[in-house]
Amino acid sequence: MRFDVLTLFPEVIEHYCNVSIMKRAQDGGVFEVSAINPRDFTLDKHKKVDDTPYGGGAGMVLAPQPYVDAYESIDKLDNSISVMLSPQGEPLCEKLVCDLANYDQIIMLCGHYEGFDERIREIIKPKEISIGDFVLTGGELPALCLIDAVSRKIEGTLGKIESAHEDSFSDGLLEYPQYTKPREYRGLCVPEVLLNGNHKEIAKFRLEQQIERTKLRRPDLYEKYNKK
Ligand code: SAM
Repeated sequence: MRFDVLTLFPEVIEHYCNVSIMKRAQDGGVFEVSAINPRDFTLDKHKKVDDTPYGGGAGMVLAPQPYVDAYESIDKLDNSISVMLSPQGEPLCEKLVCDLANYDQIIMLCGHYEGFDERIREIIKPKEISIGDFVLTGGELPALCLIDAVSRKIEGTLGKIESAHEDSFSDGLLEYPQYTKPREYRGLCVPEVLLNGNHKEIAKFRLEQQIERTKLRRPDLYEKYNKK
């Protein structure tokens, strides 16, 4: 899997992807992340990548030339998808993450300032993805959310791929409560059932907890789960 990220701030992507699980997975050859800066492709003599909006209005708009040229410089694999991070896109969810994990390459366009000149969309025709109904200053955090979530679905990223299968949303429910040592902390005890080594009882307890939690915290998810 390759993640190619078009961003004016490659260091944001590089810093995050070069620590912890993400770094280990990259070192192990599970996936590769590369950040490409459209500023390196601008033909403007002052290295500008944005300009004022036609028709007036606040802020700066990302110009098409640096983004399209940077995009076209990327080697595309056969099984590749182009994604634009945008508050106007399809909301990112577990199902979309799983679908994206089937590609061999995800090329991501991160905006900044007032966003993209519309012709970037018309030429590249990316799938637009949003991480929620709020507006951030740039597409780097959304791109990192996407890289992180998708990479967890790839065999080799997590120590045990089962960890991802047990996470919230993977079966339509939120995850059960987790406990570690000590058995008692400030008078609060780990539920007895988790200590008895009876895997059938543990699984039953955990599923009950998942259902109860989801019902309480996310009635929308519970309703869908109940209809299955
Ligand atoms: N003017 C744009 C609009 O109203 O649709 C918002 C531009 S935003 C300030 C700058 C960039 O941040 C966007 O081009 C996009 O790449 C990124 N961004 C901001 N919020 C986002 C979100 N919720 N999901 C994905 N990307 C987002």
